[in-house]
Amino acid sequence: MTSPWEPGVFTSVDAGFGVKLEVAQDLGVTTAHLHAPHGSTRSSTDPAALARRFAEAGIRITVVFAGFDGESYADIPTVVETIGLVPKATRNERIVELKSIIDFTNALGCDATGLHIGFVPHDENHGDFQDLVTATQDVCDFAKQRGIHIHLETGQEPADVLLRFLDAVDRENLWVNFDPANMILYGCGEPIEALQAIRARVRSVHCKDAKWSDQPGKTWGEETPLGQGDVDFEAFFRTLKNIHYSGPLTIERELSEEPERQKEEIAGALHLIREWTAKTLG
Ligand code: MG
Repeated sequence: MTSPWEPGVFTSVDAGFGVKLEVAQDLGVTTAHLHAPHGSTRSSTDPAALARRFAEAGIRITVVFAGFDGESYADIPTVVETIGLVPKATRNERIVELKSIIDFTNALGCDATGLHIGFVPHDENHGDFQDLVTATQDVCDFAKQRGIHIHLETGQEPADVLLRFLDAVDRENLWVNFDPANMILYGCGEPIEALQAIRARVRSVHCKDAKWSDQPGKTWGEETPLGQGDVDFEAFFRTLKNIHYSGPLTIERELSEEPERQKEEIAGALHLIREWTAKTLG
């Protein structure tokens, strides 16, 4: 068992998200979320060796995030069309890929696989809602046999839609990775209210900040360094305490085209997280 609210950072080997292991080590974090390597890299990666590299750096991988070929976060309409298990044309092949990532997670010695499932239909009577529920149940059941939890990343739907979807899937190993900035980026609701609504389902969090778009839900908001966006982090931390959240706090700052600035901003975020943690937990 580790201490609660251990700071961490989002990392990847080749996916272009988060930071490299070496940067995470320099930053002095003790936990990380790892974006799963792409299919070709993954098949040639020895998970035990990768787990050892993290362990030798003093870092525990707490969630492995799945991503799929053909996904693009270019703008909100493109996200709707390309992300997760929602696009029908690629659903079956992505379920196969996701199961391979769940096995990879297990081989790494980690117990959670996270993903953006995509834009869940907001109306339960939508023709595809039940198909998506069935697909998610299949993934959860596969994961459960391996002792793996599934964490759905927030943001692409308001809290009430996400809760209805979780209830419909009805699997005890299905959880939420709560990312307050995504609620703002996608225009899906006030993050603190959403965190309170989803509280019983939250098993991991991203510490990421963002500013609202002037057309919420239509165009992206803007990701910012932690503490400079519209997430009220002191309230966020108080809420985490109130809901008895005890997992790690994983910093996500997507700025891979400017790695030095990214590292500097994550170091700033770490400082703030330690300050807010001390203030909240006393
Ligand atoms: Mg995130």
